[in-house]
Amino acid sequence: MSGLEQFPRRCWAEIDLAALERNLKSIQAALPPRIRYIAVVKADAYGHGMHQTVARLMQLGVDMYGVANVAEAATIREIGGGGWSILVLGATLPEEAQYLFEYDLIPTLSSPEEVELVDRMAAKRGRTLKAHLKIDTGMGRLGIWHEEAPRLFAAIKAAKNLKLDGVYTHFAFAESDIEFTDLQRRRFMNALAKIDWLPRDQLLIHADNSAGITSFTEDSAYNAVRIGLLQFGITPYKQSLFAQVSTSPIFSFKTRLSLVKRLPAGADISYGRTCKLRRDSRIGILSAGYGDGIPRSLSNLGYALVQGKRCRYLGRVTMDQTIVDLTDLPQEPSVGAEVCLIGCQEDSEISLAEFSDLAGTISWEILCSITKRVTRIYKTSAATG
Ligand SMILES: *Cc1c(COP(=O)(O)O)cnc(C)c1O
Repeated sequence: MSGLEQFPRRCWAEIDLAALERNLKSIQAALPPRIRYIAVVKADAYGHGMHQTVARLMQLGVDMYGVANVAEAATIREIGGGGWSILVLGATLPEEAQYLFEYDLIPTLSSPEEVELVDRMAAKRGRTLKAHLKIDTGMGRLGIWHEEAPRLFAAIKAAKNLKLDGVYTHFAFAESDIEFTDLQRRRFMNALAKIDWLPRDQLLIHADNSAGITSFTEDSAYNAVRIGLLQFGITPYKQSLFAQVSTSPIFSFKTRLSLVKRLPAGADISYGRTCKLRRDSRIGILSAGYGDGIPRSLSNLGYALVQGKRCRYLGRVTMDQTIVDLTDLPQEPSVGAEVCLIGCQEDSEISLAEFSDLAGTISWEILCSITKRVTRIYKTSAATG
């Protein structure tokens, strides 16, 4: 990146690390103090930048990091050295397993075969490896099917070189389906009851992602949560469901006008002639497109904020440029003017949730789709609210 920093920015993301700090404190304060906080920072910390995000989280005190794979975990070691507990949330490929030992990581194990493999590798190295077992209670992804959990427990009990450090499950629909989430919780507790050779307080027991904490109950066996999206200030559930937490977005997405021009009624706009002007218009060319992370599905649908007003996208979003309708603005904006794609400008806001909905996808995917071309600019002080 360094070679490009001298150039004026055409499209950038602003990331407010002070807001990340406030969000984290708000979530932690809403949960009982005994609950450990696993900060999920996979996929480059949901596109916010692993280095800066994790460095800030390390100053704040989270209990564990959750990442997708051993390579992401190695990045955390690079940032903060040893000492931090890191849970690998994905299944570890056989050829990745050596790095569990090299970087002192905690794998997620779903099958007796995985248990046997890492146990054998630990024995060969004269090491003891911590592990979390995962129970599939209705997500159908990782974990052993809950009715078969005893098979996995037997394997881990027999594994002399593994230390069972945690047991967890993952919700499929915690933001909307209370009944199904309840069923998942019951299946999980039933499976957990079959671990009788270890005291509960020696285990991290966790299920809740951001949406899960809306149905978190204090008296339950859980002693940890795994939070991703919510710490970045995006609420994947109705705010009223868990009003104890108040968070604010830490991410905004901006670009600039590179050209302003007039076109007559009837003119065709963009690839595929996907828009025909119905009136004499003033249009603006944004210096960002799908090559920066504006989804092409927002063609003719999305809005950008210019002078604090919503301006509709015209025609297709293209790789490097997007066309917007500036006709209704009271003043002609100047070339170079700042344009907000996601976030606030003056009194207006385009939230990430609205942007994602319009694009027909979810906030998680949009954050992961902001490309490398987009410079991340970090605000680190707590100066503003
Ligand atoms: C990504 C992930 C999370 C975090 O989910 P959010 O909804 O972003 O809070 C928690 N647990 C697992 C297993 C995950 O893969």
